[in-house]
Amino acid sequence: MSAAVSTLRGKTALVTGSTSGIGLGIAVALAEQGASLILNGFGEVEAARELVGRSGGRVGFHSADLSKPAEIVALFDYATSEFGGVEVLVNNAGIQHTASVEEFPVDRWDAILALNLSAAFHTTRLALPTMRARGWGRIINIASVHGLVGSVHKAAYVAAKHGLVGLTKVTALETARTAITCNALCPGWVLTPLVQRQVDDRAARDRLDDESARRALLLEKQPSGDFVTAEQLAATLVFLCTEAAGQVRGAAWNIDGGWLAQ
Ligand code: NAD
Repeated sequence: MSAAVSTLRGKTALVTGSTSGIGLGIAVALAEQGASLILNGFGEVEAARELVGRSGGRVGFHSADLSKPAEIVALFDYATSEFGGVEVLVNNAGIQHTASVEEFPVDRWDAILALNLSAAFHTTRLALPTMRARGWGRIINIASVHGLVGSVHKAAYVAAKHGLVGLTKVTALETARTAITCNALCPGWVLTPLVQRQVDDRAARDRLDDESARRALLLEKQPSGDFVTAEQLAATLVFLCTEAAGQVRGAAWNIDGGWLAQ
C-alpha cells in the first residue's frame, strides 16, 4: 500500500469543475487513492459519477454554479451534512475568453474573475474551519502557466490566475504552522474542451485542419510539442496529498512541457 493510499482513505475530497477535463482526471485519481469524492460542474454528470465511482468509493455531486457565492455556501452545507466536511479541496473549475483588453466584454471579465478567482476564496474560507478542526488538510488550486506569465488576449484569465497564485501564498502562510498545506499547479496546454475551443478558433482563423491547428498552438509556447495530460497533473496532485509533501507550502508548480523555461 502506498503512502497516498493510507493518507486518503476515510477522507473526503471536493473537486470543483469535475465533470470534464482536468477536474475529472483529478477526481478519478483521488478516488483511486481511497478518498470519497464530491463532484461539481455542468454537463455530463452521470458519466463522471460512473467513471469516478469505478474504484468503489462514495461519490456525491452538487450542481453549484461557483460564480455565485450563495451556491458555494449551499455546496458546503451539502458537504457538511452528507460527508461531514472536506479535507482535500481542489479548486479547478475555470473558464476562458480571448479578446484584446479594449475589446474584452465586461460581462466575460466579471464571469472569469468570479469563477477562476473569487470562487476559490469562498471555497477556501468555507473549507478551512473543518480542516483546522481535523488538524489536517490539502488545498490545491489549479492555476496555470498564466498564473506566472502573460499571453496576449487573455487579460481576465491571466489576471485571475495570477490572483489565484497570490491567494495560494497567503493561504499557505496562514496555515504554515498546521498540517494543512496550500499549493498551486500551473499547467501548460492540456487537451480538454477548454483548449479544443482555442484549437477550433485557430483552425478557423488560419484555415488549418484540426491536427495542424493543435500543433501550431502547441509549438508557439510549449517546447516539448506534446500536451500535458490530466493524468500527469493528477499524479502530481496526489503526491501533494502525501506526508512526503507536507512541507511543500505556497508553491506554484509549473507542469508545462518547458513553457516557462524559455
Ligand atoms: P473544461 O472546460 O474541460 O472543464 C471545466 C469544468 O468546470 C467543467 O466541469 C465545467 O462544467 C466546470 N464549470 C464551468 N463553469 C462552472 C461554474 N460556473 N460552476 C461550476 N463549475 C463550472 O476545462 P479544463 O481545461 O479541464 O480546465 C480546468 C482548469 O484547469 C481550469 O481552471 C483551467 O483554467 C485550468 N487550466 C487548463 C489548462 C488547459 O490547457 N486545459 C491549462 C492550464 C490551466
